[in-house]
Amino acid sequence: MSVAVRFAPSPTGLLHVGNLRLALVNWLFARKHGGTVLLRLDDTDAERSRPEYAVAIEEDLRWLGLIPDRFARESDRYARYDAVSAALKAVGRLYPCYETPEELALKRTRLAAGGKPPIYDRAALKLTDADRARLEAAGRRPHWRFLLEPGPVAWDDLVRGPVRFEGAALSDPVLIREDGRPLYTLTSVVDDADLAITHVIRGEDHVANTAVQIQLWQALDAAVPVFAHLPLLTDAAGQGLSKRLGSLSVRSLREEEGVEPMALLSLLARLGTSDPIEPRPDLATLAAEFDMARIARGTPKFDPDELMRLNARVLHEAPFDAVRERLAGAGLAGADAAFWEAVRPNLTRLADAAEWWAVTHAPVVPSIDDPVFTAAAAALLPPEPWDTATWGAWTGAVKQATGRKGKDLFLPLRRALTGRDHGPELKNLLPLIGRDRAARRLAGDTA
Ligand code: GLU
Repeated sequence: MSVAVRFAPSPTGLLHVGNLRLALVNWLFARKHGGTVLLRLDDTDAERSRPEYAVAIEEDLRWLGLIPDRFARESDRYARYDAVSAALKAVGRLYPCYETPEELALKRTRLAAGGKPPIYDRAALKLTDADRARLEAAGRRPHWRFLLEPGPVAWDDLVRGPVRFEGAALSDPVLIREDGRPLYTLTSVVDDADLAITHVIRGEDHVANTAVQIQLWQALDAAVPVFAHLPLLTDAAGQGLSKRLGSLSVRSLREEEGVEPMALLSLLARLGTSDPIEPRPDLATLAAEFDMARIARGTPKFDPDELMRLNARVLHEAPFDAVRERLAGAGLAGADAAFWEAVRPNLTRLADAAEWWAVTHAPVVPSIDDPVFTAAAAALLPPEPWDTATWGAWTGAVKQATGRKGKDLFLPLRRALTGRDHGPELKNLLPLIGRDRAARRLAGDTA
């Protein structure tokens, strides 16, 4: 049996880090086991689904290198859901109910008052043909519920271990709405069965769905897949991520925060496991190292600061070839390997490189504390060509001539040469600044 998984987002919003973690775990599991990934858009909620979100989800996944092997869209499959519904109706597993939302709410209130769980009482099963005809004549349209069987529903969850529900303790789920639209509980199982999904890896918010859906797989005579329900991410304060969706969308992390794909993927692959969180070079490595058994049941916390720390580490390790085009795209067309190697230890975001590009290639207002000292230092600048040994030779000479050392020697030179107190190592920056600019800056000129 070859592994087949699916990632099934609803295109009702942008992909956020919580969905992305589930997408990634599906990908890593499939790649690790030589399986395939289906991207399925759960877009039967016509009011909330938007084509632009579907496009954005695919773009975000592509940006991360999460390219699906197969693609499906639920809105293409209504005919199939109708056929399955008809078959379930024919065998009495799908039955019409006529309660209004208000009547159902009242039933739930009564049950709650008696300390009972909100299980539908199956009153609709007692309706006679005449009752139904009368209701329909009065303009009522039925919604359809799946008749659950009593008895245990159990599975061995790859994350949660053995899980068991009593069928009798579950409420018959509505599979078809009054307007005839099939609901997720049905469509998801029909797709998973038709597309031969072997492993359903999703959020633990679906555990109760799984219990009823298993009975659906059985009713369809389809093989029940293996399940893994992952705990949902929270923010650092333990709040569900949905409260902060906007700021944690993959889109905003990419476009506004300057997050590197491998920083995000490295973090999400390890979050909630006991493995150290550290930059990994590529998806293939993450897949080779992936093990579902290492995903803990505890709630993983997503910390944006941790992501940015990882982002910095990813950039510090990135070779020039990996960023050449992006630097050019950011207006740093002349950036070369020497520039990149000089500045990358100081970057949290790739875009930060622009600041150091300006320091090495555009006029800087120098910061001069002691003009006599910087003039003396300027007089000792060696002739070009310069390389990374120039800084050491020059500052050695300045030290000899002025008697300054340590911070008193280096900080005024840094402030004159860059206009800043901090930055990349000057032994790397100085050759990029060049003798002409350096001399003018040391003289206090904007250069
Ligand atoms: N569209 C559902 C969701 O986003 C899919 C759940 C599932 O994986 O079955 O929650």
